[in-house]
Amino acid sequence: MNFDVTIIGGGVVGSAIAYFLSSQTEKNMQIAVIEKDPSYQEGSTARSAGGIRQQFSTRENIQISKFAVEFLRSISSHLSVDGDPVDVNFEEKGYLFLARDSNIPILYNNHSIQKSEGVPVALLDQDDLARAYPWMNTSDLAGGSLGLEGEGWLDAYGLNQAFRKKAIAQGVSYLKDEAYNLETTGSKVTAVLLKEAGRIETSFVINAAGVQAATVAEWAGIDLAVRPKKRFVYSFSCRTEIERCPLTIDPSGVYFRPEGQQFITGCSPEASNDPDCLDFDVDYNWFEEHIWPILAHRVPAFEAIKMENAWAGHYAYNLLDQNAVLGPHSEIQNFFFANGFSGHGLQQAPAVGRAISELILNGSYQTINLERFSYQRMLDNKPVSEINVV
Ligand SMILES: Cc1cc2nc3c(=O)[nH]c(=O)nc-3n(C[C@H](O)[C@H](O)[C@H](O)COP(=O)(O)OP(=O)(O)OC[C@H]3O[C@@H](n4cnc5c(N)ncnc54)[C@H](O)[C@@H]3O)c2cc1C
Repeated sequence: MNFDVTIIGGGVVGSAIAYFLSSQTEKNMQIAVIEKDPSYQEGSTARSAGGIRQQFSTRENIQISKFAVEFLRSISSHLSVDGDPVDVNFEEKGYLFLARDSNIPILYNNHSIQKSEGVPVALLDQDDLARAYPWMNTSDLAGGSLGLEGEGWLDAYGLNQAFRKKAIAQGVSYLKDEAYNLETTGSKVTAVLLKEAGRIETSFVINAAGVQAATVAEWAGIDLAVRPKKRFVYSFSCRTEIERCPLTIDPSGVYFRPEGQQFITGCSPEASNDPDCLDFDVDYNWFEEHIWPILAHRVPAFEAIKMENAWAGHYAYNLLDQNAVLGPHSEIQNFFFANGFSGHGLQQAPAVGRAISELILNGSYQTINLERFSYQRMLDNKPVSEINVV
């Protein structure tokens, strides 16, 4: 078999790349996506919390999300197949970052970067918070930052499948198979080896393997500091109505948001308690002992909640700076990274899909310049770090 571009991993990132590449019909590229899990249940995408925000401190991340919002608002015009509308339940209900006194300077600093990028975001003081969210305990808060539009959540699995279906309609071949090695000649990858189908000769290889990214890189002799880190999402019900609830991020790092008639919540652990992990076991005590008390403190009505469900998923966690690694390797120039998205790869998929296709088709970024996210920064130890409020 022979393809121009072989994408390892058909999650939301690999499928977005396949869609954008195959949209350039005049190039008539032969594109393969290798995906080992036909259920799409084990990758990060289907297990994500589905959030999209513009409230970042890195300009590129803001621009990436702005493009995603534009794309999602008109998703049918991009991803419809045979005229069927596409609906990924994009709910623009905002992100609300809450801050205590000590974090107000960061909140204000991020706010000015966001405003200069044209993000519709508002700073709220303690009184504003109490007025807008009477269900919230604001006694220990100094303020918050609310996204007024272009933030919220969506059906992550649905977006993955919509990209996939459209890519297939545009001629992309999805192979249900597992890649297990690469062949290289000099400074080029020449073939991808598959467990079932054998060998694919290819001009470009794109690593979109999510938490397996470091393994795929290793096949080309590349050390990639991306590791699987387990995260839990818990859903719960609450009898009291919590009106106009955005995706709220408590100063402790615990977040919650509505999900249909219920809510979902979660929190990243301390770095010192965050081992590499690939299992799906759920820690229910983490909810009882850590998350619930914080929820109940922030929203007194959450004293009386019932946990309904829980699941585990994995971040493809960039150990350097928790940001994406994008573009070609500096020496093996036909090996491309689309890795290390940590907690924000879902919302980055549209812009990353477009960006990688620009690199393949034009040799350089055409819309958003994402050079700062190159693999070279990992070698140079130059992190592009988000300055987080929590
Ligand atoms: C609990 C949780 C909450 C999250 N919340 C958010 C959020 O609110 N907003 C947000 O933007 N992001 C969020 N994320 C992150 C987001 O889900 C990921 O960054 C994103 O889904 C990454 O997509 P991907 O395509 O890179 O990876 P994946 O979806 O994991 O896809 C990679 C695919 O590669 C396949 N694969 C791997 N190796 C091979 C191989 N050798 N051969 C063939 N196939 C292979 C896998 O089967 C998999 O399907 C969250 C993640 C988790 C776990």
